[in-house]
Amino acid sequence: MTDKQFRNVQDGTKAVWAGEKESLAYNATQVPVVFSVAYNYDDVDEWQEVALGNKPGYTYNRMSNPTVKAFEEKVRILEEAEEAVAFSSGMAAISSTLYTFLKPGDRVVSVKDTYGGTNKIFTEFLPNIGVDVTLCNTGNHEEIEAEVNKGCKVLYLESPTNPTMKIIDIERIAKAGKSAGAVVIIDNTFATPINQNPLQLGVDLVIHSATKFLSGHADALGGVVCGSKELMQQVYHYREINGATMDPMSAYLILRGMKTLKLRIRQQERSAFEIAKFLQKKEAVEAVYYPGLETHPHHHIAKKQMKGFGGILSFVLKGEMEAIKILLPKLTYANKAGNLGAVETIYGPARTTSHVECTLEERKALGISEGLVRISVGIEDTEDLIADLEQAFAHLESASSISN
Ligand SMILES: *Cc1c(COP(=O)(O)O)cnc(C)c1O
Repeated sequence: MTDKQFRNVQDGTKAVWAGEKESLAYNATQVPVVFSVAYNYDDVDEWQEVALGNKPGYTYNRMSNPTVKAFEEKVRILEEAEEAVAFSSGMAAISSTLYTFLKPGDRVVSVKDTYGGTNKIFTEFLPNIGVDVTLCNTGNHEEIEAEVNKGCKVLYLESPTNPTMKIIDIERIAKAGKSAGAVVIIDNTFATPINQNPLQLGVDLVIHSATKFLSGHADALGGVVCGSKELMQQVYHYREINGATMDPMSAYLILRGMKTLKLRIRQQERSAFEIAKFLQKKEAVEAVYYPGLETHPHHHIAKKQMKGFGGILSFVLKGEMEAIKILLPKLTYANKAGNLGAVETIYGPARTTSHVECTLEERKALGISEGLVRISVGIEDTEDLIADLEQAFAHLESASSISN
């Protein structure tokens, strides 16, 4: 199917149909998992044309694979990008993209609230190779603009951020990045292409941890980067040589998960909003972070640049770790785990999940309270999730009235 055939249809239709046709074989209606590492050519001239990239086809799986290609194409069409390249994990996509564009002596500007692993690349690995890293306060647009205006090779963003759901005005900050001549990159994992298309807001490269919402089923790791042909050729070259390629089985699982992406997101954010309102009313809750709430400090920005507010929220329990230890085990329809974006609801304290590697002081500096719990809302029925919370909070309230 051509890109033109997807121009006038919406995301739900794209998520089902895009990218698959070219990888189908044997009249099958589903994309095959092609495990072959290499591809056979009796015609040496044809082999060379394919190997040089002058003719479509496959030679070796580290370069490309039909199942992985179908996944890349689906994401590419959803993000309306010229090219997409898949990686073995979200972190492989992020680190490979940063290493593609940053060399010793270069400067990168980012924010303090990036994903934990990304933050380690900025604080540990990039300084090791002589890259100058500046991390700004996430909600402070003036500070980010001032740092970008001093000049930088790469501007790296994430919105919404983990776990306090801060929002960056993407169009405004990308504009500053472009006028400074930077490659502007964003991690779009939390929003997904269903709710946010940063390429249309002036960003150069969009990255996803496909492990999360794209897959939706918490059974495969993957990452993907998309953007213009010119930039993506460099990202692809880095991957084909450094080798963090996506596995065909993971590509198949994520491809299958993606067909229900829009349905999942719409159900998850419907419940997330109800849960946010429920938590706001609870005596034991100090704060609720969800961009869909009008009380969220960046609600107006989220409303402007997102089509929906997504399935992730977080809240702070007044009783900190003691209260978390009482509440979480009482929740029946939820995993207590470190991932997000799955069909099951998942609860995780920042202290054991996104910011496990930080010290107490580092978490404090990031504004992450010890009582903070992230909820990745699943596709269960909203009423059941609220009822589950209701009974767990009843238990917490009676436990704390005894200790009082
Ligand atoms: C999970 C996550 C990553 C890392 O992805 P992996 O697939 O676990 O390597 C990057 N960014 C965000 C926002 C994430 O949630």
